[in-house]
Formats: sequence, structure tokens, C-alpha cells
Amino acid sequence: MKTAIITGASGGIGLAIAKKMSEAGYNLVLNYRSRANVLEDFIKTLPTTAVLVQGDVADYDAAGAVISACQSTFGQIDVLINNAGIAKDNLLLRMSPEDFDAVYRTNLKGTFNCIKQATRPMMKQRHGRIINISSVVGLSGNVGQANYAASKAGVIGLTKSVAKELAGRNITVNAVAPGFIETAMTEVLSEAAREAALKQIPLGCFGSPDDVASLVAFLASNEARYITGQVIQVDGGMVI
Ligand code: NAP
Repeated sequence: MKTAIITGASGGIGLAIAKKMSEAGYNLVLNYRSRANVLEDFIKTLPTTAVLVQGDVADYDAAGAVISACQSTFGQIDVLINNAGIAKDNLLLRMSPEDFDAVYRTNLKGTFNCIKQATRPMMKQRHGRIINISSVVGLSGNVGQANYAASKAGVIGLTKSVAKELAGRNITVNAVAPGFIETAMTEVLSEAAREAALKQIPLGCFGSPDDVASLVAFLASNEARYITGQVIQVDGGMVI
């Protein structure tokens, strides 16, 4: 049976990806940072086996423990989905260096850490799928999100470089760039900010975690075998 690792699985998009991948028949390693309680009941509802691994992906050894849990439990790593992410929004003039580092460390360094730890086993297998969750903000930039946008733009550069390096081993690497998706991350925004965002979305509504999960499941599937190094937006046309 195929396997997938999902980081940040206790959040809105992570849960939707986990459900979709389990329904597609994958055994799962689900990483979380603090909310084990969200996942403990959730995994009982899944049709395949899922194991939970707590860990801060910004820590290289903790990322390694997430990856090796997949090998030791299931014997192979077919898909790695780098989804863990945080935002600490503020205007540049008010943004602290600590908040820049925190966002960069989780979103970009965490993605690098997991990819690097998974690469050797995937190269040995001579197959693998790596899917990185970026953001449309990494393409367009956004007021109040210099740290977040820089980290997500970094994920795109990382995706394209690693796609070129690993293609010869039958490993594809792609990025998914969601727009405004209704989760805990966007719940904290003011009504004014939500209205302003909605005006920029030609399809006229916010996205759901399932919209992102469907694309991730497709990129993981055999149907997507000839797609690598791409950034695919799921944003209702927000950034065209
Ligand atoms: P969310 O509900 O806040 O979930 C974030 C997830 O990341 C949680 O599972 C959290 O774990 C985990 N996490 C945070 N820091 C971590 C770390 N250092 N190590 C391991 N796990 C960590 O957010 P979401 O909306 O589902 O976001 C998922 C991904 O989509 C993120 O990369 C985000 O940037 C991206 N994205 C979201 C949107 C949107 O509109 N929502 C748009 C574009 C891109 P705990 O909860 O257990 O602490």
C-alpha cells in the first residue's frame, strides 16, 4: 500500500488533505506541532492506517523523525506533502526580526528540512512525489505579509530547483499556491480584510480546504506523472 507524509496535518488544509489521501488508499504519517487532540479522533474515521508524529519541522532532527517514522512503520515513502505553515502578519515597519525568522523557519526551512530528509530514501526507491504548499502571496506579495510572502516565494524557488535535481530519479516536485482558503489561518482576519480579499476574487467566493486537497491528491496520483517543477494556483482567479 502506498504511503504519504503530511506535515501540519492538524490544521484546516492538512486535515482535508489527510482525508482525501486516505480515501485514495494511502497509509499516512501525520505530523503536527501542538494539536494532537484534533488528530486523535480524526484518524479513527479514516479508511487507512495513520500514525501521528509530533514535531517542529523547523528543527532538522525533528523533521528527520517525521520522515523516518514513515519508513519504519510502512517501509517506504511515496509522497511527501509539506503543508506546515504559520503567518505573523504586520507592516514592515512594525515587523520584528523575530517574527520574520519564525515564519521563515517554519515555512521555508521546514520545507527544506523535510525534503532533504526524504530525498535519500526516495532516490533509493527511484520514485517519489513531493508537494509543497506555497501561497499566491509568494507570487504577488501582500501588504502586511513581507515575512510570509518571502517564505512562500522561497518555497517556489526551492520547488523548481529540487524538481530539476531529482527528476532523473523519477521524483516529481511541485508547489500548490492557494489563495484565500477558509481555515484557522484566515479566521483571524477582520471583516474589512475579508471583504477586501473577496473583491479580488473573480469567482466571488473563498476557497475550501477540499479545493486544495483535490489538487494535492491529483499531483500525488499516477495521472500527474509528467508534471514537475510547477506552481499551480487554487485561488478562484485571485492572482492572474
Ligand atoms: P492552519 O489551520 O493554521 O494549520 C497550520 C498547520 O501547521 C497546523 O497543523 C500546525 O500544527 C502546523 N504547524 C505550524 N507550525 C509548525 C511547525 N513548526 N512544525 C510542524 N507543524 C507546524 O493553517 P492552514 O490554513 O491549514 O494552512 C496550511 C498551509 O496552507 C500553510 O502552509 C499555509 O501557509 C498555506 N496556505 C493557507 C492559506 C489559507 O488561506 N488558509 C492560503 C495559502 C496558503 P498545530 O496546529 O498542531 O500547532
